[in-house]
Amino acid sequence: MCGLFGHRWTTHGAGSQRQLVEQLQSVYRMLERGILKSERVLSAMLATDRALYTDRSPYTDAPQPIGQKATISAPHMHAYALELLADHLRDGASILDVGSGSGFLTACFARMVRHPLVSEIEWNSAIHMVLPPLFHILAGGVVLVIQVGSTGRVVGVEHVWRLARRSTENVRRDDPNLLGNGCLRFVVGDGVLGWAEGAPYDAIHVGAAACKVPPKLVEQLRNGGRLLVPVGRPGRAQWLTQVDKKPDGSVSSRKMTTVTFVPLTESRHSQ
Ligand code: SAH
Repeated sequence: MCGLFGHRWTTHGAGSQRQLVEQLQSVYRMLERGILKSERVLSAMLATDRALYTDRSPYTDAPQPIGQKATISAPHMHAYALELLADHLRDGASILDVGSGSGFLTACFARMVRHPLVSEIEWNSAIHMVLPPLFHILAGGVVLVIQVGSTGRVVGVEHVWRLARRSTENVRRDDPNLLGNGCLRFVVGDGVLGWAEGAPYDAIHVGAAACKVPPKLVEQLRNGGRLLVPVGRPGRAQWLTQVDKKPDGSVSSRKMTTVTFVPLTESRHSQ
């Protein structure tokens, strides 16, 4: 997809994921958009190297083609979506990513809803404070951390099986633990219908533009949950629409900003 607010820019010369995210931060601070603002979103994006999800200019803030008429969204768009959903991306939450494409955003979701694993943790004295639900076994200088307690669940639903397969490979190269502990999985299906098996969801993200808010997705949202979906016909203005299901089950929606996404299309599982 293209940029937000009708403009598009590139961060020429960004050489690493950290540089890219820092540039995003500074540019948006300057613009006072506050797109990337929370520590949790920042760490999820820093931990997820875009070069593992696209080999085309991964550190440029622009969408890139990933084949099958799909694109990996621009990093600022990923940041924007993560921030809007951040309060719903908590330990133990269930998340659905419709049109998961490259799997980049799906991996960020997984990082935000699960407890950290030892592979990501640098042993220091703070570990006892930040990870109270974990047991630590010290043996010959090796720290083994056994995860206890709940972990979130993230499902990416993608209708092009080649993309679903590639996104699984991307995440495996990134961090096999994300797939191994059952936190994240990609399924092939028509995302317009959601993924009933994992419902209800605390947050649903749609990475392609629908003509109208898909009713099945609203149905599969938990009370108190949030759905983020670009709405608009191909070639016409699209609005990133935030749909909130309140604790009493009533639904409200709000147009957040104009965007440009590839269309959410009919099922084509056979490809
Ligand atoms: N967030 C993704 C966006 C990928 S582009 C990323 O940044 O990588 C949108 C994706 O939606 C494409 O991969 C496309 O194949 C998928 N898509 C379109 N219509 C769909 C449908 N009905 N069901 C599931 N996936 C769909």
